[in-house]
Amino acid sequence: MVKMENPMMKYTNLEYIGRGTFGDVCKALDTATGGEVAIKKITLQELIRREVTFKELMVMKINKHLNIVNYLKSYLLGDELWLVMEYMDGGALSDVINETHMSEREIAAVSRECLQGLDFLHSNHVIHRDVKSSNILLRTDGSVKLADFGLFAQLTPEQSRQSSVASTSGWMAPEVVTGQPYGPKVDIWSFGIMGIEMVEREAPYWKETSGMPRLVIARRGIPKLLQPNLFSPWLRDFLSCCLQTDKEQCWSAKELLQVKCKGAAGETGCEGWAPPPRKSKGIR
Ligand code: ATP
Repeated sequence: MVKMENPMMKYTNLEYIGRGTFGDVCKALDTATGGEVAIKKITLQELIRREVTFKELMVMKINKHLNIVNYLKSYLLGDELWLVMEYMDGGALSDVINETHMSEREIAAVSRECLQGLDFLHSNHVIHRDVKSSNILLRTDGSVKLADFGLFAQLTPEQSRQSSVASTSGWMAPEVVTGQPYGPKVDIWSFGIMGIEMVEREAPYWKETSGMPRLVIARRGIPKLLQPNLFSPWLRDFLSCCLQTDKEQCWSAKELLQVKCKGAAGETGCEGWAPPPRKSKGIR
């Protein structure tokens, strides 16, 4: 899986893009194709420290989809693992959220693409575990893709729940943070938090969560829009289908997608989007 050749011969014009939890990310040119790639450089110590396993790296290799930032190759260079991925020239959704106000139509379009990626992962027994706006990458051709496989977990049929926590953030479902057993619906919770973020330009309880979403939720309730009446019923209902602490009430990516596909423009004016039928209690 990991190539031992020197990647410096294969990729030129390395340009630093940014730094994440696992290390630096650079843009580079593939000398064979002339195309742009992104390279994530991770030290072996970091991989060991964060207990990333060979199995998790394999998850990246085998799961390819239009709504996933596809992994291309990996190289071992000294004590660094170089993960070569497709380059996303439009930056992260978090930048769009910081810089603009997204319309409901745009939120709907981005949500659909994210749900397609999540549905693909969940159908393949993979939980992303770190869905948040900085892990949604965009391309100027309009592609929207889920990124950052670093925290991915592959589930086997025998092990349909797991409780290891890789890190914490305000996007994480309470059961992930507290180390309870969990399944793919935790990604739908994070997706719902991201939905509020797209609307309000800030994740809910942002200043309060810092690793304790469960406590905050216990005190303040499930996150809601601050001014729900400014938004359409379908958007409120859509978020409510995602943000359920009772996972039986929470919709799956497939259900959310199927409902969306049925609808006409309706109340939202967003082509292809419609209010999902109610499954949970009451529109907020
Ligand atoms: P964290 O690791 O805490 O989740 P992060 O998502 O910002 O943070 P990285 O995924 O390592 O960390 O990304 C570092 C920078 O590189 C970010 O600005 C990100 O948008 C950018 N980046 C990552 N992957 C790609 C890619 N395939 N194409 C273009 N830019 C990328």
